[in-house]
Amino acid sequence: MKNLYNKVRAFLPEHLQILSSKIVFKLLNKPLYDRANYKPFEKGIVIISADFELAWAWRYSKRKVDYLELARRERENVPIILKKLNELEIPITWATVGHLFLNSCQKCNGRAHPELLRPNYFENHYWVYNSGDWFDVDPCGSYKAYPEFYAPDLIEIILNSKVKHEIACHSFSHLDYSNKNSYPELIENDLAACKDAAKKYGIELKSFVFPGNFAGNFDLLKKHGFQVVRYKSNEFKEIGYPEILDNGLIAIHDSLAFDQSEIGWDVNYLVWKMEKYIQKAINKRAICHFWFHPSIDKRLLDNLFFKIIEYISLERDKGNLEVLVMKDLDRL
Ligand SMILES: [Zn+2]
Ligand SMILES: [Zn+2]
Repeated sequence: MKNLYNKVRAFLPEHLQILSSKIVFKLLNKPLYDRANYKPFEKGIVIISADFELAWAWRYSKRKVDYLELARRERENVPIILKKLNELEIPITWATVGHLFLNSCQKCNGRAHPELLRPNYFENHYWVYNSGDWFDVDPCGSYKAYPEFYAPDLIEIILNSKVKHEIACHSFSHLDYSNKNSYPELIENDLAACKDAAKKYGIELKSFVFPGNFAGNFDLLKKHGFQVVRYKSNEFKEIGYPEILDNGLIAIHDSLAFDQSEIGWDVNYLVWKMEKYIQKAINKRAICHFWFHPSIDKRLLDNLFFKIIEYISLERDKGNLEVLVMKDLDRL
């Protein structure tokens, strides 16, 4: 049904495309509000999380993407994004791949990171890993020579920002954390490596974002001191409240990505749509959780991401909204 709608829509002139999108959005009563765990906050809450990963996320992607090129764009974007977040005083959660904390790394007996366990070969919805070694792409050099794989300089800029951002965890090397495609020793070893790398900056990791949104191993996350995790939303859950899992972890689903859906659609429509999410969070005193890849293309960065954070800052200044980072949910 959705595909059919998209095909029909594609034949309409642009202004009618936008109109039809808005009508369908309203007919479906979007964004979808979920009353589960109903516990309204004092005011609406917006959380923004960034999957900060440079070249690590895309190397096994089934879509043949140029992961080095994406990493370079991410590097260009991060300082620009931080500057804007500073101006608007918006803190966000940087879910950071652990390898980015390193200044450099070396091969040991011809092997990258012999101290780390490897996943077994697997395939999931987005990636396929069926040959070679998990760390084959690791250049085993320094961040100056291979800036696509390390980011100590960018992490310093984040930490020295006027706004207090959160540095969170996105696994050490962008692993699939599902129980199906991992095993407990692998996860424990991975989490220990992340915590170790972050500790050198005085960072205690509290929140976790599942790479590729493949969730699992919640008890091990809890055991390693994590308090908040980001879940993949589903079609029925966009604006809502956090869920406390049996082991005490706080899980919050995402609402929408800045850079995932509807690329090529009219950006003014996307701005209109994302503002609706914020308005619903305000009305329901619930959470709206946006996320994005900092490698987002420039068109969406300038015309969508910046527009929306300006809107968020305006609503926050009017007293309608609070802007939090993921780990703040632990104290609410
Ligand atoms: Zn390495
Ligand atoms: Zn990722």
